[in-house]
Amino acid sequence: MTEFKVPLIDLKERYQEEKDELLSCVERVLESGNLVLTPELADFEERVAQYTKSKHCIGLNSGTDALMMGLHAMGIGKGDEVITSPISFIATTAAIAHVGATPVYVDVGKDQNIDPLKINEKITSRTKAIMPVHWTGRISDMHEINKIAKQNNLMVIEDSCQCMGAYYYGQHAGTFGKVGTFSGHPLKAMNAVGDAGFLITDDKEIADKVRVYRNHGLIDRDTCVEYGVNSRLDVLHAAVLLYRMEKLCGVIDKRRNNVNLYRELIQAKEVFIPTCKPHEQNAFVMFIIQAKRRDKLKEFLDGRGIQTLVYYAKALHLQPAAKQYNYKRGDFPVAEKQADEVLALPHHQYLTNDQIKFVSESINEFYQL
Ligand SMILES: *Cc1c(COP(=O)(O)O)cnc(C)c1O
Repeated sequence: MTEFKVPLIDLKERYQEEKDELLSCVERVLESGNLVLTPELADFEERVAQYTKSKHCIGLNSGTDALMMGLHAMGIGKGDEVITSPISFIATTAAIAHVGATPVYVDVGKDQNIDPLKINEKITSRTKAIMPVHWTGRISDMHEINKIAKQNNLMVIEDSCQCMGAYYYGQHAGTFGKVGTFSGHPLKAMNAVGDAGFLITDDKEIADKVRVYRNHGLIDRDTCVEYGVNSRLDVLHAAVLLYRMEKLCGVIDKRRNNVNLYRELIQAKEVFIPTCKPHEQNAFVMFIIQAKRRDKLKEFLDGRGIQTLVYYAKALHLQPAAKQYNYKRGDFPVAEKQADEVLALPHHQYLTNDQIKFVSESINEFYQL
């Protein structure tokens, strides 16, 4: 495998920077002799609740589990429809399918988030919830979405897996609807050292249900009230996440600076970069441009040692797994066009200004050839 001169992400560097603290987190947990559902987990959950200004947080194995268990605890299942975005990681739709409900897509806007103006026409008597996806760490237009939800008596569950540390009109991601879901996957801005996730809610009934479900449905050692799963956030991850939560603001600040510099330096008119509106405080998990002749551009950047990645080349309604829902090409033209143009550029807190200049100038040069 070739080493890229400018890598997309840099997890090795993060380890070097945090080595002493991470190893002391591990040591502390191991020395305690308890490795499941320990106080580290409760501390982490409490800190997240405080940070996001929500009443309850439950630590889980992944963001995917948070989505699934959130839907389940909201009472969504067979025969129900959930409105969602065709632009996301596959897990968003999979969670809906796994609880037995049907995903109903609504096309996205220029910023790749669900277009609220197109939601109404998709609401039926079976619609139970709206699940917007806050893609790249930018919160969807929650005021509009909540207005529609309220008018139609629908619940809202936010896929805020990329949005720890993101705000919309000063309010934290995941707090606009009944449930907010988060991922601690290594590629998110607040990441564990492997898979991790959590869910927030103000609804005590939902919180209790998820807490029991993640632990086999047991309310005590002898009593199972509902068959659940094993999805307790690993306490080693909880300890690391708790430590990293205090660094999250700094990480996001650096990433915001990256994006601002990219925005200033990328001049090519063939490249579209969604703007950040004043009320948006983005978590900047990925930096995705929309570029003409994307595949050729990617090849050109590869040749310069610049690593890029397509997130994603296929909108969710066109996946083979979605065949059962009978969507076809042309159903969501904005999302489909974006799938042909999106390209994630190198973007992490260790990126230097020189590297950003090099990437930006390479892009400008490509379009002048
Ligand atoms: C990462 C991610 C998920 C899945 O989270 P995992 O922790 O990897 O299961 C779901 N939705 C979105 C938008 C994500 O970015």
